[in-house]
Amino acid sequence: GWARHDRRDRACYDPARAAADLRRHRLTGAMPTALDRGDFMPHFQPIYDLRSRRITGVEALARWRHGGQVLSPHDFIDLAEQSGQICRLGRSMLDQACRQAVIWREQGHRLTLSVNLSPHQLAEPDLPATVAGLLHDTGLPAAALQLEITESAAVEHHHQVINDLAGIGVQIAIDDFGTGYSNLAALSRLPVRCLKLDQQFIRQAPTAQAVTVLRHTRLLCQDLDIEVIAEGIESAGDERLLTDLGYTRGQGFRLARPAPAHTVTQLLARQAPGADP
Ligand code: C2E
Ligand code: MG
Ligand code: MG
Ligand code: MG
Repeated sequence: GWARHDRRDRACYDPARAAADLRRHRLTGAMPTALDRGDFMPHFQPIYDLRSRRITGVEALARWRHGGQVLSPHDFIDLAEQSGQICRLGRSMLDQACRQAVIWREQGHRLTLSVNLSPHQLAEPDLPATVAGLLHDTGLPAAALQLEITESAAVEHHHQVINDLAGIGVQIAIDDFGTGYSNLAALSRLPVRCLKLDQQFIRQAPTAQAVTVLRHTRLLCQDLDIEVIAEGIESAGDERLLTDLGYTRGQGFRLARPAPAHTVTQLLARQAPGADP
């Protein structure tokens, strides 16, 4: 009867899940105004030369100032992709990050700026023209910009746009390398300048399997003449393992956390001047 029906309905209703759905719905709805108002901004995480311990680059990572909090990509990148707003968000990140990189270069720091691209951005036919326009408007040299593309079907399906971007002179990096099913033959035919090895291998080290992947990825990159960056360096042990395996570039909380531009400006100012690579 009714009682049993009622009980079954209640069993299906999960308040935690409903609250999460509502939050996602509200965040998606708030996004257009937030984009208009400039509430999205990049934080920057330094990338280091592990030998000299100097900052050689920075990765722009999107943040959203929302309701007195600073939200991380985990809270909004999926929503932006599902609601078709990722291209606007991505363009805003590129624009803000390029402007900041120009400021650092004017202060004498020869940094490479890395910016993450969504597969949706790669699918936009005018992406190369948009990037070229941003470089022109901001004055950032193309060679100082690295675009990070995740290792996924996107790489397979967007050879033309990746070639066009490389044709402008920007560097292409494969992000989260080792998490997808890379077709190494396809990768080696693309104008890839850099592989960013996913954090999971350092997390799993020192298991023999993870160390094997770390060692062979480094050798693969050396043979293909591709730079390799180890992501997720959290401890002195992580750093030692990687340097022992011949890694020379790294990124992780042990070295520096993502931070607002002014914090990175202070880090850069503290570096001994000159001899920037
Ligand atoms: P990603 O591109 O792989 O960026 C690195 C992520 O790892 C960042 O998370 C960073 O804070 C985190 N991380 C860095 N070092 C460490 C470490 O030592 N330990 C741990 N546990 N984590 C570390 P974040 O900022 O939350 O970004 C997450 C992801 O969101 C990024 O992963 C990227 O895929 C995506 N994302 C961020 N900004 C953008 C953007 O502007 N556009 C697009 N399309 N995606 C973005
Ligand atoms: Mg990245
Ligand atoms: Mg990554
Ligand atoms: Mg990623």
